Amino acid sequence: MYLKSIEVQGFKSFANKICFSFQHGVTGIVGPNGSGKSNVGDAVRWVLGEQSAKSLRGGNMQDVIFAGTANRKPQGFAYVAITLDNADRALSLDYDEVTVSRRLYRSGESEYRLNGSPCRLKDVNELFMDTGIGQEGYSIIGQGQVEKILSGRPEERRELFDEAAGITKFRKRKAAAEKK
Ligand code: ATP
Ligand code: MG
Repeated sequence: MYLKSIEVQGFKSFANKICFSFQHGVTGIVGPNGSGKSNVGDAVRWVLGEQSAKSLRGGNMQDVIFAGTANRKPQGFAYVAITLDNADRALSLDYDEVTVSRRLYRSGESEYRLNGSPCRLKDVNELFMDTGIGQEGYSIIGQGQVEKILSGRPEERRELFDEAAGITKFRKRKAAAEKK
């Protein structure tokens, strides 16, 4: 499984609809300060269900919507879609490609889709659980995160190992069952 593309429209500094396509191997994103490099990583975390506006460097979630510039009017919504190659069926969906998208309007109305069909955040979370990719995964290591992992509490480090070992789903199910 690998990330094939990221499509963004109206997300942070990306007013126009653009698509980043990736091949196998390593891709570097370079550019001057403030040109939007970190916003690409934010887009991936956002589409995977990030709920914390602060961790996306905003005050509230609507701050991810393109706010306009001196010669460009603001956008009404933010949209991100990522497409993953799933030929190896690493994700438990019987498709060679899996596309996850998220859209948020200024009104607060929002929508997730899996291969074009509306779905819940819970479905997105479950799809990526134990793959290392999802909300609590380790596929995106932000600035300062290595430090946090090294100096974190043992329980927090344990969560990372659970995810890598593929047993997060069991821990989550147990917790949900105990709540009932
Ligand atoms: P650095 O090299 O300093 O890390 P960077 O390339 O990672 O920079 P980003 O942090 O990705 O840059 O992008 C910051 C830019 O995104 C700023 O210019 C900021 O104004 C712009 N930006 C963030 N949110 C929005 C928004 N909602 N609407 C318009 N522009 C935005
Ligand atoms: Mg940056």
